[in-house]
Amino acid sequence: MAILRTVSAMYGGRIQRFHVARDVEEALSLLSAYAGAGALLAGGVDLLRGPLVRVTGLIDITRIGLSTVAETRGGLTVGATATLTQLLESPMAARYGGGILAQVLGDVAVPPLRNMATIGGALVSAHPWGDIPTALVALGAEAHLHGDKEAKSLVEDLYRGQFRKVFRSSVVTEIVFPPWEGAFAHEKVGRTRSDIALLNACCGVGLRDGSIVWARVAVGARPDRGERLPEVEQALQGRTPSDALWKEIGELVEARVEVGDDRRAGRAWRRRTAGVLVCRALKRAARRTAT
Ligand SMILES: Cc1cc2nc3c(=O)[nH]c(=O)nc-3n(C[C@H](O)[C@H](O)[C@H](O)COP(=O)(O)OP(=O)(O)OC[C@H]3O[C@@H](n4cnc5c(N)ncnc54)[C@H](O)[C@@H]3O)c2cc1C
Repeated sequence: MAILRTVSAMYGGRIQRFHVARDVEEALSLLSAYAGAGALLAGGVDLLRGPLVRVTGLIDITRIGLSTVAETRGGLTVGATATLTQLLESPMAARYGGGILAQVLGDVAVPPLRNMATIGGALVSAHPWGDIPTALVALGAEAHLHGDKEAKSLVEDLYRGQFRKVFRSSVVTEIVFPPWEGAFAHEKVGRTRSDIALLNACCGVGLRDGSIVWARVAVGARPDRGERLPEVEQALQGRTPSDALWKEIGELVEARVEVGDDRRAGRAWRRRTAGVLVCRALKRAARRTAT
């Protein structure tokens, strides 16, 4: 089989079988039959990079009908195998949250990668430096999973638990983005336009009569995965957007954000930059909400 030879060569000769699953049930039963030596293949972006030490069988899930994008009750429901490009080109996704998905996904790497990478793959890979995990947390996205049983969980809750274990024996089928009366904005700093983030922030606000009625603030690539800052969200409630408020919030972010060093950036730089990024994102979100 030509496809098996090609895939196996790509993975250093370790892959013995390549399956194209017809539906979620087949993907699950293959996953279970491999007992840890099988992997679901969506865009393949991470699987191509990873060592795949134990994996001998790949299960292609791109033809199981999970590439849909639909508006649902003011929110958005996206099939796990929808590619980033598909979302970027979807008018429904473009309307969501003041255009936040277009902004975040447009900041991910380069178009050829976005043509392959899927939203479900990004959720499961959960790179700490990723922009998508930060946005999923900020937006209150919910993952729908098929495993032993069907389950729904906020991505934020999954990331707080032993999510890698969960994903080993389940298929993410959909990601549900709830409706928000307001807008979000995303900020990212990388060494180049297409580089991964040294730090990112995804923030949203809703306004009523000029006052902030809800706020969501998440910072990622700290270098840990994106996390919300509840105290900062609380401090924004009932306040009126102004330069003085953004300055105060920037200082609070610097005091509260948990950051660390890695080979890409230092703790002090991350702390200071987090305040700046959150301010910028909130300012843009407030401007979008008001228009
Ligand atoms: C060079 C490079 C630059 C990048 N830059 C950025 C960036 O700037 N910002 C950013 O946010 N991200 C970035 N990424 C990460 C990118 O978003 C992810 O690698 C990509 O989205 C993974 O999706 P995939 O469909 O290719 O996953 P795959 O490689 O197919 O799968 C990844 C993992 O998820 C599992 N999986 C896939 N789909 C499912 C499913 N439906 N249910 C259960 N398990 C599943 C697979 O088994 C595998 O373990 C970058 C990656 C690379 C390689």
